Amino acid sequence: MNLRSGRRQFLQAIAATTVASGTACQNRIDPTPSSSGGASSSGGASSSGGASSSGGASSSGGASSSRGGAGGTDGSASGTASQTTAGTSGSGGSGQPRLTSPLGVALLGLGKYASERLAPALQLTKHCRLKGIVTGTPSKIPTWQAQYGIEEKNVYSYDTMDALLDNPDIHVVYIVTPNHLHAQFAIAAARAKKHVWCEKPMAMTPEQCQSMIDACAENGVKLCIGYRLQHEPNTQTVIGYASARPFGAPQQVDALSGFNGFGPSDADVWRLKKIPGGGSLFDMGVYCINAARHALGEEPIRVSRARQWTERPNLFAEVDEWTEFELEFPSGAVASCRSSFGENIDSLNITCASGSYKLEPFQGYTGVRGAASDGTQFNQTIENQQARQMDDDALAIIEGRDVLVPGQEGQRDVRILLAVQQSAQTGQPVRLA
Ligand code: NDP
Repeated sequence: MNLRSGRRQFLQAIAATTVASGTACQNRIDPTPSSSGGASSSGGASSSGGASSSGGASSSGGASSSRGGAGGTDGSASGTASQTTAGTSGSGGSGQPRLTSPLGVALLGLGKYASERLAPALQLTKHCRLKGIVTGTPSKIPTWQAQYGIEEKNVYSYDTMDALLDNPDIHVVYIVTPNHLHAQFAIAAARAKKHVWCEKPMAMTPEQCQSMIDACAENGVKLCIGYRLQHEPNTQTVIGYASARPFGAPQQVDALSGFNGFGPSDADVWRLKKIPGGGSLFDMGVYCINAARHALGEEPIRVSRARQWTERPNLFAEVDEWTEFELEFPSGAVASCRSSFGENIDSLNITCASGSYKLEPFQGYTGVRGAASDGTQFNQTIENQQARQMDDDALAIIEGRDVLVPGQEGQRDVRILLAVQQSAQTGQPVRLA
């Protein structure tokens, strides 16, 4: 079985099975990610929206208030795959215009990450620009319009996303909502013929991920997952070591990712709520999983020693404050991982047969750096991680190339996240292949 057919079989298998009954998969990471989706039909990426708000700042997009509900319960928007409209996005697809730089990006979900990181980064990018917003909070609209010069016709609510279909200014919708809402908004954006960038973790189940992959494939748009670190040069050096093996075979990975950032006033924050995607594992543990897979260049076959706990039960009554787990790989290598909302941890150590190397910090927004046991320094610098990520992804779309981090990549991590949860709940190891 070659890598590509193995990847296809793997995707078909996980679309049809649960974590607990995982089936055979390819265990080496394919160094040439494909951006095409699976072939099966899209299912229902179900997840309901949250509280609604009222008000009604309107625009041509009709940005009346709404939160968390892009159309029906299957996450569908009313735009259909069969509609074709001038100005729709898609590079090189049949009948679609070739795109030129810079692409227009609409940020969807104007929370902390969108406002503090992505919008400022979009002022630094060369191949994409902030042109639109999609929000459920009308009161945010004037500020964003004033700060970034966003035209009225490029302002949307979650209920008016189907109107994006007719907007030639917007080529990409970047989903930056709470985790459990990613799938429905990604599917709505794809049905409006917009390329989709989506934050991590991609979705709540492998089936939701597959629905996103399918929706993008069916609508001729690309899907990129916001793993900014895969675009970061020192991280890329470490990923390259997985195949170059300058210190022999990697044997052990230790990945720690967490921050001590919540207090009593945060009790209502979605990350602390018993909703899919809440808790430290989904927020921070996903960095450990992704880093371990790429540092080793292979796919884990088993999750073991998983446990989740809290040391501040008043604050973390509903979700894990800490999660620890091990991933076992076909080569015999083991990754020991810890995520936390209770301590500041941020390091990736790789121990090999004849040496070691590390990144610390490994997932910070700035200053990712490290060294190897032979003195090699990993000290390349870039201006802005998010700008690098978005420019890479925009250029891939413009040039019609495979994207660096396609939906299949996010899907693999989601499958492992669920296995970790299952292992912690049952106290038993969970096989992944
Ligand atoms: P916030 O809570 O700060 O913002 C989320 C935004 O989503 C809200 O402001 C709101 O925007 C919108 N939203 C839509 N429906 C709901 C709902 N039911 N409840 C709450 N908000 C809703 O989250 P973050 O910005 O911190 O995180 C957003 C995403 O970005 C997450 O998936 C997270 O994992 C990811 N992230 C990624 C990082 C990275 O480094 N790659 C770093 C930080 C976060 P509006 O009012 O406009 O509707």
